[in-house]
Amino acid sequence: MAVKHPVGSIANSYSKLRESLPDLEIDPRIYGPQAIDLLAEMAKTGPNFRQCASYLMEHDIPLYVTRESKGVGAGWHENVSGECWISIDRSIGFIHSLISIGHESLHLRQTIRIRCSVEGEYHAWRFAYRLREELTSAGTALPLTEDEQKLASMPDQPTREDLKAAQRLIQKMAGPDYLIGKAPLAARDWQTAVIVPVNKLINTFLGRGEQL
Ligand SMILES: [Zn+2]
Repeated sequence: MAVKHPVGSIANSYSKLRESLPDLEIDPRIYGPQAIDLLAEMAKTGPNFRQCASYLMEHDIPLYVTRESKGVGAGWHENVSGECWISIDRSIGFIHSLISIGHESLHLRQTIRIRCSVEGEYHAWRFAYRLREELTSAGTALPLTEDEQKLASMPDQPTREDLKAAQRLIQKMAGPDYLIGKAPLAARDWQTAVIVPVNKLINTFLGRGEQL
């Protein structure tokens, strides 16, 4: 059954997008009203957010909503045909969805071996703090906790020791369901070459949920 949306709210999202990314081309078959709303908000919040939104629209990466049994909030996906998409858990709110989509879209800009390593999470978590700064400047204050500040102040080019410390810190913040403890530290570690095809295979047969 078709789901209807008020014309006013759709028009509002499109006009926000037009203000922030006037030259961008968009495929309306890929993004429904809720996706447009999220992308429009990202595009107007700040430069890093805007880069994420334009990356997703330029590459036609769809957003899906799922109900995750062990909720980690959101996820990137790539199947054996190279199709990519982002899933967001139904239970997370609008602001948290913006940050999670930003985090996952950074992953999609990484190589898939980086994405499957602690190195990839290290950069995506720290990128999400920059997104939170943009939200804070735009009026939604999201101060960092002590642990988050520790991670934010680590070096841009981490050593293996830094990555190990970050792995413990992220595990502590994200809880036991977050699989970072088992991830290889760096993209070049041999384990990522094994994880990548398994991950693609799982995503090929995985139900995507409902497209936003
Ligand atoms: Zn991540």
